Amino acid sequence: MIVDCHGHYTTAPQSLWDWRKRQAAGERPGPLKISDDQIRESLEGAQLKLQRSRGTDVTFSTPRASTMEHHVVVASISLEWTRLSNDLIHRCCSLYPKNFVPVCQLPQSPGVAPKESVGELLRCVKEMGFVGLNLNPDPSGGNWKDPPLTDRWWYPIYEMMVELDVPAMVHVSSSCNANFHATGAHYINADTTAFMQFLTSDLFKDFPALRFVIPHGGGAVPYHWGRYRGLAQDMKRPPLKELLLKNVYFDTCVYHQPGIDLMLKVIPPENILFASEMVGAVRGIDPETGQYYDDTKRYIQASSISAADKQKIFEGNARRVYPRWKPV
Ligand SMILES: [Zn+2]
Repeated sequence: MIVDCHGHYTTAPQSLWDWRKRQAAGERPGPLKISDDQIRESLEGAQLKLQRSRGTDVTFSTPRASTMEHHVVVASISLEWTRLSNDLIHRCCSLYPKNFVPVCQLPQSPGVAPKESVGELLRCVKEMGFVGLNLNPDPSGGNWKDPPLTDRWWYPIYEMMVELDVPAMVHVSSSCNANFHATGAHYINADTTAFMQFLTSDLFKDFPALRFVIPHGGGAVPYHWGRYRGLAQDMKRPPLKELLLKNVYFDTCVYHQPGIDLMLKVIPPENILFASEMVGAVRGIDPETGQYYDDTKRYIQASSISAADKQKIFEGNARRVYPRWKPV
C-alpha cells in the first residue's frame, strides 16, 4: 500500500469558505449546508483523481492548514470553526473510507492554554475515529508569542496524545506577519523551529511514547543535519539518533529529486513517512520533468534505496506511527 500521511481538504465547496468569512467578521452564519454530492464533487476532480492517477491508496486528510487561522478570532469562535472543520473531514472520510483517513485540527488560540484543546482531540479520536492531529506550534500566526513546544504549557495535549496513542504533525497555519510568506517561509521556519526546540529539551524523557511528524521534509533540518548534530554535541546533548529519532519523524513533502535524495541519505528510513500534501502548497507541473512537483511518489521510487526501505516509507512507518489507522 502507498499511504500519504499529509493531505488537506483544500478543495472544499466555496460555501465553507464563505461561511468562515462571515463567522470571522463577527456574524452568526447559522448551520453550514453542504450536501454529500457537493463533497463528492469537490474530491472526485481533485484528491481522488490525483490518488488514482499517481497510484497512491490512502491519504490522511486534515482541514486546510491555512484556514485553521488560530490567530484570527477569539477562542470560542475558533472552537466552533474547528469543530465544523473536523466534522467536515469526518464526512469526507466516511464517504470514502478506503481513500481518506481523518486527522484533526485543534481549537488553539494565542495565549490560551493548550489544555483547552484536549476536549476536541478526545472527541475526534474517540467519537469519530481520527488517527492523529495537526498541532500548531505558533497559534499567533507568525509572531511566536506562546512558549516553545517543549514547555510544560503543552503537556496536557501530550498526555492525551500518549493516552490515545496518536501522533501530531507539527503544522502552522497562515501567517499574519508580512515577513513570512505562509507556505514558502512560515511553514518551513516552523518545521525547523520545532526540531530545534526538541533538540534542546528533555521532552521525550518525560514522554517516551510521544510522536511528532515534522512535515515538508523537516524544513531545513535534513539539509543542515551536520549543523544540528554539531549543535547537540556542543551542548553536551546525546547524539541526535538517540535524542530524537525514537519520537520524531519527517514526511516526504519535498518537491524535487535532489531534495528527496538528500533526505534519504541523512535520515534513517525508519523515520521517514511518505507524503505529498496534495492538494496543497504547490500545484503546478515542473517544466524540467513534465510531472507535478508534488507527485512525490516518483522521487521515492526513482531513488536508489532498497525495496524494503521504500516499503517502510510508503506504508510500514505509517502503521507504526499511526497505530489507530486500520486499512479498510
Ligand atoms: Zn500541510
